[in-house]
Amino acid sequence: MKRIIFASKNEGKVKEVRKILSGLNLQILSLNDIDYTVEIEETGSTFEENAKIKAEEIYKIYKMPVIADDSGLSVEQLNGEPGVYSARYAGGSATDDENNLKLLKNLEEFLQPHRAKFVCAAVYCFGTDFFTAIGEVYGEIIKAPRGTNGFGYDPLFVPSGHNQTMAELDSQIKNRISHRFKAFDQLKICISE
Ligand code: IMP
Repeated sequence: MKRIIFASKNEGKVKEVRKILSGLNLQILSLNDIDYTVEIEETGSTFEENAKIKAEEIYKIYKMPVIADDSGLSVEQLNGEPGVYSARYAGGSATDDENNLKLLKNLEEFLQPHRAKFVCAAVYCFGTDFFTAIGEVYGEIIKAPRGTNGFGYDPLFVPSGHNQTMAELDSQIKNRISHRFKAFDQLKICISE
């Protein structure tokens, strides 16, 4: 069985990615599994740059195949915000609830619908080789949070073609339509080689 590191401490994401890649006979180790506690600074201005920064940093230390992603929410009326700042929208150590509140506050002055998309850049790094893929899912931000599944902005995001928020949808459905699924699905072939 091939061992691969997923450069993330976010257990919500780790769970999703393990499911997405579950057919590949991989052992996916998260940064928590390998006790990597350093905070990798996301200094890039795009999701792709940040995903590469994380993958390179971990590859340099462990010399093992690494997958990494950077993802976030982009809201049309806020000119793409929170974007690469999604995790720290309401400040460096902000909780999901604080980020969600700030988003709702910033949208108060705009009429609905608040069109938005989740974006994920996924990277597979092995030595000097990088493979990158982008996945997106479109939808709308609603006025108040609904649902308890998932993480981050899930309770505020209703994907197009659905009535439930990402946090109300069954995790199997989220996993089939999500930005992360669309990005990592494209990387399956090179990861399994
Ligand atoms: P990252 O860990 O730097 O990629 O930051 C991702 C941040 O974007 C998370 O902390 C969430 O706030 C948001 N985000 C990314 N993907 C999702 C998702 O699938 N659902 C909800 N929020 C997400």
